Amino acid sequence: MKNIAVLGISGSVGDSTLKVLRRFPGNFRLEAFSVHSNLQKAEECIREFQPKLVCITGSNIDAKSLGTSLGNTKIIYGSEGMEEIATLPTVDVLVTAVVGAIGVKPTIAAIQAGKDIAIANKETLVTFGPLINELLKNSRSKLVPVDSEHNALFQLLEGRKPESIRSIILTASGGSFRDFPLERLQNVTVKEALNHPTWSMGPKITVDSAGLINKGLEVMEAHYLFGYDYDSIGVVIHPQSIIHGLIENTDGAIEAYASHPDMIFPIAHSLFYPETVPQLLIESKPFSWKNLEFREPDSNRYPALELAYRAGRAGGSSTAVFNAANEKACELFLQEKIPFLAIPKLLEAALDSIPTEFPAEIDGYLDVDRRARSFVESHYSKYIKGGISC
Ligand code: NDP
Ligand code: MG
Repeated sequence: MKNIAVLGISGSVGDSTLKVLRRFPGNFRLEAFSVHSNLQKAEECIREFQPKLVCITGSNIDAKSLGTSLGNTKIIYGSEGMEEIATLPTVDVLVTAVVGAIGVKPTIAAIQAGKDIAIANKETLVTFGPLINELLKNSRSKLVPVDSEHNALFQLLEGRKPESIRSIILTASGGSFRDFPLERLQNVTVKEALNHPTWSMGPKITVDSAGLINKGLEVMEAHYLFGYDYDSIGVVIHPQSIIHGLIENTDGAIEAYASHPDMIFPIAHSLFYPETVPQLLIESKPFSWKNLEFREPDSNRYPALELAYRAGRAGGSSTAVFNAANEKACELFLQEKIPFLAIPKLLEAALDSIPTEFPAEIDGYLDVDRRARSFVESHYSKYIKGGISC
């Protein structure tokens, strides 16, 4: 029996994690979790799983309405509570399923406490990658990626000698606008962006996917997780999302990992790791090999992918700039304050304006993160609908 803690149980990854926990009640116990604003979900999960500790991170005063305990569950408030959850002595595996770089402090706390981490929260790795890798050197903590492409690559790379691998390749569905005529991208709506063709996910990652910004973040995530340089990390569009990752061996042969596009696969793998998942996860759906397609990403449709490589190659704080500028720009798009095509323009402007630094401490990265967000905040009006630049 492993004790599991989940940061962000009320989100899409959180929900898939609950499915896995319900499927394997004899293997896992939900020991602790956080929600930000979804008190109803918190209450349901407390009643169903009776965890030891729950944290409500939202600053809304009404949040306190749940009180300080429910049954045997202790309830705490405020984002610092995520660190308490991450370091709870009885927790074996921490699932980081919050969205955004906000996940950094609990992730660092868990590494320092030697916890195993099933990491979904890619923005933390993208922003603080060098720091996190440094901390991992002195910890017995192990990161297992939950992101489907990285989980596929993790499984393909396990036991391989790095010198036997020529490149690693991430697949991308191509997102909601994959088949839209290019000129339509000028005035796509938030509703259209949120209509993802294959995956059911939270709003931010769904918008990120539409511009292949999610894939850009994932290229950086792959770099920090597996240590390959950016010239050895490729991206291929694969609309069916059946193949998630590929590795190219030094002899040129390519191996692929395939599964249904459902997050329960990588989540179950990361929770059971290093044991294998003992039973079928999806019994009713037949696996379809029909019409699997692959194509190169088009840089006219997805300009942010090249910007992500540019930020990644610059290294240091540049990936933090890319991530923070994107978090802010994505938020503005979701609030219908900027058009979709303004997002890559703001990313490019932020990368042009904020020089690369190589901070040694978390505060240096947090400072860059703040500067990138305020850059977007103070420049986005140039890119509003009908404005000069879009
Ligand atoms: P969702 O938007 O569905 O869920 C986000 C979660 O984070 C919710 O539990 C939310 O709480 C919580 N949250 C939001 N803001 C804050 C905050 N300021 N402080 C603390 N908690 C907060 O996101 P997803 O589940 O889609 O994604 C989560 C992470 O996993 C992201 O980093 C994403 O890139 C990554 N990922 C997601 C995949 C997917 O299939 N969805 C696939 C691969 C990676 P509440 O709802 O209570 O407000
Ligand atoms: Mg992914």
